[in-house]
Amino acid sequence: MSELRSFPYLGDYIDGAWVKPDRPDGEFVDTSPADLKDEIMRLEYRYDHVAAATRAAKEAFREWSVLPAEARFAALRRLKEVYQSMEAQVAEAIARETGKPLWEATGEAKNLSNKIDITIGHSVKLVEEQKVSEALPGVDGFVRFRPRGVMAVLGPFNFPAHLPNGHIVPALATGNTVVFKPSEVTPATGQLMAQMFEKARFPKGVFNLVQGVGETGKRLCADENVDGVLFTGSYETGLKIKQATMEHHWKILALEMGGKNATIVWDDADLNKALYETVQGSFLSAGQRCSGTSRIILHRSIAEAFTEKFYETAKKLTIGYWKDNPFMGPLINADAVEKYFRFQEIAQREGCERLMRGKALDLDRKGYYVTPSICLVNEFREDSIYQKSEIFGPNVAIYTVDSFDEALRINDSTGFGLSMAVFSKNRGLYEQALEVSKVGLLNWNRTTNGSSSRLPFGGRGKSGNDRPSAHYAVYYTTVPVASLEDTTPFDTKGMPPGMNFEPLK
Ligand code: NAD
Repeated sequence: MSELRSFPYLGDYIDGAWVKPDRPDGEFVDTSPADLKDEIMRLEYRYDHVAAATRAAKEAFREWSVLPAEARFAALRRLKEVYQSMEAQVAEAIARETGKPLWEATGEAKNLSNKIDITIGHSVKLVEEQKVSEALPGVDGFVRFRPRGVMAVLGPFNFPAHLPNGHIVPALATGNTVVFKPSEVTPATGQLMAQMFEKARFPKGVFNLVQGVGETGKRLCADENVDGVLFTGSYETGLKIKQATMEHHWKILALEMGGKNATIVWDDADLNKALYETVQGSFLSAGQRCSGTSRIILHRSIAEAFTEKFYETAKKLTIGYWKDNPFMGPLINADAVEKYFRFQEIAQREGCERLMRGKALDLDRKGYYVTPSICLVNEFREDSIYQKSEIFGPNVAIYTVDSFDEALRINDSTGFGLSMAVFSKNRGLYEQALEVSKVGLLNWNRTTNGSSSRLPFGGRGKSGNDRPSAHYAVYYTTVPVASLEDTTPFDTKGMPPGMNFEPLK
């Protein structure tokens, strides 16, 4: 038994009330990957709760969408206070469910209230009314951004609060209502989110929570009352969502998906900075970050020195239980561990050299702990399974090249296009990368997972569908409505030939 208390399972939060399924379609157990004795919550789910939640959200949209923006912001400011008052509880739930160290989970919990400040203080300005004087001769034009309706929000396990919140807050601020389905691996964090909305006294139906599995998510995306799907998760699931909504032409999809991100370190780089940033990029959250560094491309002249120090530093990283504040915790589940080992084997079969082998770690607390791994790629191959696949674990591939063009070609070879980093003192190289690389984020002398909520965050290719989130989320939660406002008196000047219109007397 764990010394931690289980979460009481409250059910789904629909139309301002907690509802438990009477005849459930299924059930599951939420267990901590950091301590398999820590049973966090037992849940049941029922598929028809999805339709009940979207109906409630649709009904609530009628009033919420026409409130003055300030009234919605006031509700969000109340939520901010609740978020701040519950930071410690949220951080603990995140740490238990994901296994990430408490210091990291605390950072995530703090980000929840920051998101409200940034959305209200900055992002909504992007979608303020715009006037276009003389849009036509003598007539002014206006663009007004209207909410879309019911937004389905589907979250990943790795940032179970921060990433859904990154869709939910802009959606609500701009007048939409929400049905949130958390990852089945992090339902307790999802439940806490709903409790915080309840505490912040949001009008009923504005925020709804439905717990469940992949099939629940599928039904939510395909629901006729849903006007938008705001998804963060894997490419494979994003593709399924696209397929499931093919005939729902009215739905906007914002798909924030996986990555296979590269960092180029050039011969003139500040090597200590590059090493420090790249080790973090590769191994933070045990490599379970969409923007993590999974490939490092080195200029031949610094490759040996960099690789040696990188290896030494990776070897010393601490791995352990979240409460002990190690550098990194475990992988999320047994499937993730199996995938991590399988891909190391694939790498070897494909001719890569295993510089550091990732192994299972047997700690006092039994969990899905593994050590980092490093593979040296002797031959770049576009058809390599290992070199193209997102592993989502603490594995990094190291390439050595002679020319920057070759480095850029390797960068663009996976089909993913989320994040990239260039370490060099030469701004020209960074600008060259900016010109040709198909990525949504490109950092100069900063690791691939360095990002700011004041900027857009989204990927290209298999990493996204060109609907970046973070600062730009307000664009996909709204529709621009164009108006010509004509206050001039009627005038026959400019009547087309043959119209023969005779004004009323
Ligand atoms: P996942 O795709 O397995 O699951 C995400 C969510 O989708 C879960 O809530 C799940 O229940 C739901 N789901 C599963 N099948 C579904 C279906 N058929 N229809 C609708 N919903 C369904 O992802 P994960 O393992 O939780 O998260 C890791 C992945 O997320 C990685 O690929 C990572 O790169 C990516 N990610 C991307 C970003 C980004 O901003 N681009 C951020 C974080 C994580």
